[in-house]
Amino acid sequence: MSSTLPTPAPAISPETEEFWAATARGKLLLRRCDDCQTIIWYPRPFCPACGSLKTSWTEASGRGSVYTFTVVHRSGIPGYRDALPYVVAYVELAEGPRVLTNIVDCEPDQVRVGMPVRVVFHDTGEGNALFRFRPDEDA
Ligand SMILES: [Zn+2]
Repeated sequence: MSSTLPTPAPAISPETEEFWAATARGKLLLRRCDDCQTIIWYPRPFCPACGSLKTSWTEASGRGSVYTFTVVHRSGIPGYRDALPYVVAYVELAEGPRVLTNIVDCEPDQVRVGMPVRVVFHDTGEGNALFRFRPDEDA
């Protein structure tokens, strides 16, 4: 089992304040365009597809699959060095967006492209949590 990754507090902007606040409640929020229904990632106040400013929050299912990944074997970053090896991945959410994240709670050599995963939250201790993904045995 891979060791615990560090949980550095994220950089928060006005556009992402509500997103990060929701992570403390175990919710992964996505921004959706009210006009064309495009799911917008990374959270921002306008729709990149149609330019609409009418967007609102919707809760993601927390389910997705591994789109691509790499196993990190070397790191000069304190904390991350202790967690080696660990997996950095793009997970394609069931709602469509591909998010940069870590795959946790499994051995790095068990990770496969297309593997079903679901979100887990790692508390930063600063009022929010980092979203990471683990294998979804129920999928
Ligand atoms: Zn739109």
